[in-house]
Amino acid sequence: LVRDTLAGIHATDADLAAFISVNDDAVAAAEAQDAAGIKADAPLAGIPIGIKDNIVTKGLTTTAASKMLANFTPIFDATVVEKLHAAGAITVGKLNMDEFAMGSSTENSAFHPTKNAWDHSRVPGGSSGGSAAAVAAGEIPVALGSDTGGSIRQPAAFNGIVGMKPTYGRVSRWGLIAFASSLDVIGTLTRTVRDSATVLNVIAGHDDRDATSATEPVPDFTAKIGDSIKGMRIALPEEYLGEGVDPKVTERIQAAATQLRALGATVETVSLPHTKYAVPSYYIIASSEASSNLQRFDGIRYGFRAKDVKNLDDVYVRSRSEGFGPEVKRRIMLGTFSLSAGFYDAYFKKAAQVRTLIAQDFAKVFADYDLVMGPTTPTPAFKLGERVSDPVTMYMNDILTIAVNLAGLPAISVPAGFVDGLPVGLQLIGPQFAEPTIYQAAAAFE
Ligand code: GLN
Repeated sequence: LVRDTLAGIHATDADLAAFISVNDDAVAAAEAQDAAGIKADAPLAGIPIGIKDNIVTKGLTTTAASKMLANFTPIFDATVVEKLHAAGAITVGKLNMDEFAMGSSTENSAFHPTKNAWDHSRVPGGSSGGSAAAVAAGEIPVALGSDTGGSIRQPAAFNGIVGMKPTYGRVSRWGLIAFASSLDVIGTLTRTVRDSATVLNVIAGHDDRDATSATEPVPDFTAKIGDSIKGMRIALPEEYLGEGVDPKVTERIQAAATQLRALGATVETVSLPHTKYAVPSYYIIASSEASSNLQRFDGIRYGFRAKDVKNLDDVYVRSRSEGFGPEVKRRIMLGTFSLSAGFYDAYFKKAAQVRTLIAQDFAKVFADYDLVMGPTTPTPAFKLGERVSDPVTMYMNDILTIAVNLAGLPAISVPAGFVDGLPVGLQLIGPQFAEPTIYQAAAAFE
């Protein structure tokens, strides 16, 4: 299986460009597992997986799609990778992404763009665009991604696959190259809902090495798959079908609501009134945290160092100027500004207050409903090159996914049909730790 998977990647990826690197030792790892005898408790024995390139892998280059880390080979595995390997999975390669996970199209990779699996003239979404395209194109059955503001769900929607962003803290972030630590979550990209739950079973759980890791017990995420959704109460926020959302996308979501009702659920319109503030508050909070997290890339400890530097300042300034791409620099500047003494109250503090209001909007709805539904993205995948030079248009694309991260909630994107021949996603959002209910509804819909 691993040998065939690698052959498939070599055949397809020259064109798709989903991978940054392929693990040439994967066959040896699989053979070693076969020779040792597959353990009975290895739910993913021999299953080839791809890992987003901001999750560290021992001995395998981990670049975060940045020139800054182009030659960085970690000396340890992220907790999620350790857990996957313990469950028998075989890492076959590292997947392309926007540099440091900043972006919505994978065009911010320092190496190359990735294509949408359905239409090679379009973006695969981002920042986990390589993960989504590789799974959708059949190169691999499972990929890990990270989701800070939609980076698992949006590319899953654009490629017609299943993308799960678990509750904040549900999965250890140890070994995930930090972007915005209060928002970052590792999750799965798969072709089916059951595959997603099966992999989440493996990677979830408390980890002492991540101070924000939840102590909540981990249920069997597949347990409610196949259960009826009769009587389930689902909320459809009016803001999620409003201005800026393609009417053909709205039509697909209304069709999904009809299907959920036919299965016995109730679907009612609600309001999440602070939705319009999610994008500005996210871009202040995420950029502020990024400006702090990315201070470690200083040309001294590890990563890129500029050549022919004259003094210490030169090391810092030139290494960072040459090592980071334009979007990363934009975020560092935006974040440093928002946190600076004169502007902290007006920007960072205000954004943090708005974040609380957004979380309260959801809490009010979840007092009466089991899940919230809506589209994952306002439009299907856009053309490569179409939005790279317009960051605000690019940021607005995240309007439907970002509030979920600000509130720390779990959410899935599942295929919801096609608009103009391109896949679109249905997003199902739950209260914290309600992943089993999300999987129950998602599987019924599938
Ligand atoms: N597109 C968003 C951003 O550019 C989200 C990225 C993510 O979730 N990593 O910040």
